[in-house]
Amino acid sequence: AKREGRNVSHVFCHRSSPADKIRVGLESALHHALEREELRLVYQPQVSISDQCFTGVEVLLRWQHPVLGDVSPAIFIPVLEETGLIERFGEWVLRNACQQYADWLSQGLVPEDSKLSVNLSPRQFRQRDLAERIQQLLADCALPPQRLTLEITESTLMVNLDHGVQILNRLRTLGVSVAIDDFGTGYSSLAYLKDLPIDYLKIDRMFVQDIVTDTHDAAIASSIINLAHNLGLKVIAEGVEDSAMLDVLAVFGCDQYQGFYFARPLPAADIPALVTRSV
Ligand code: C2E
Ligand code: CA
Ligand code: CA
Ligand code: CA
Repeated sequence: AKREGRNVSHVFCHRSSPADKIRVGLESALHHALEREELRLVYQPQVSISDQCFTGVEVLLRWQHPVLGDVSPAIFIPVLEETGLIERFGEWVLRNACQQYADWLSQGLVPEDSKLSVNLSPRQFRQRDLAERIQQLLADCALPPQRLTLEITESTLMVNLDHGVQILNRLRTLGVSVAIDDFGTGYSSLAYLKDLPIDYLKIDRMFVQDIVTDTHDAAIASSIINLAHNLGLKVIAEGVEDSAMLDVLAVFGCDQYQGFYFARPLPAADIPALVTRSV
């Protein structure tokens, strides 16, 4: 009887808790966000540390709700993921960003060896025919596969490592590059890294933000960089906010960075001017 009671109250809470109402509200608002053109893309430059050259951009999704204003991706991406809407929204992000990058390339506004990075959520990563969809999309946009990097987190891969590796192999066969995002924040062991068909590790902002003052964070960042280089991978540091952080990363031999120090995520129209500034 006690257990039944708990179940009943659980069901009741589930239906009416404030957090759930907010979630359901966000969900229905998100259903209309695409058609109502409340979504837009911003681009954050990635820069080579040794010579300050522009190496590419990461595209990030923004949602501006007419009443709620700007809603953080940290809030709405998980809702998209849980409801499955991420498949449609993710396709929209990929298609628009690839088209934008192809336009920049054809107009000579970005270097021809630079890259567009796009985040893939766990559900998108496991979408059926992901590689075929991406191949089709690249063809539609006339973007060479070598110009695209897909960012996935360790936890996305860890759901089912063997299956994940198969998907990665298919993507890389297309010519697309793969980056492990938020590296160091997951629960995975380092042992699996040596067998992963990937190209880049992105050091999470968590290890970068105090790199100048915290010797332990500096040790972790330096170790990640050495490990990655020994495995033939390139390293991108996230969240670089000042020149002191950049100096430390340069000493450690980090390859690229992105962060407010060079530029915040910006609307597409602002990117070409930054490319000229960096080259
Ligand atoms: P992420 O992939 O780790 O993206 C980097 C985040 O760090 C972005 O937050 C960016 O604005 C922020 N950032 C960049 N430089 C700095 C800096 O110097 N200092 C600080 N404090 N922050 C910096 P944002 O745009 O709020 O995105 C948050 C997360 O939402 C992303 O983390 C990513 O996981 C997810 N996300 C954003 N757009 C998409 C998307 O199109 N698809 C998917 N699946 N996820 C997305
Ligand atoms: Ca990312
Ligand atoms: Ca990240
Ligand atoms: Ca993150």
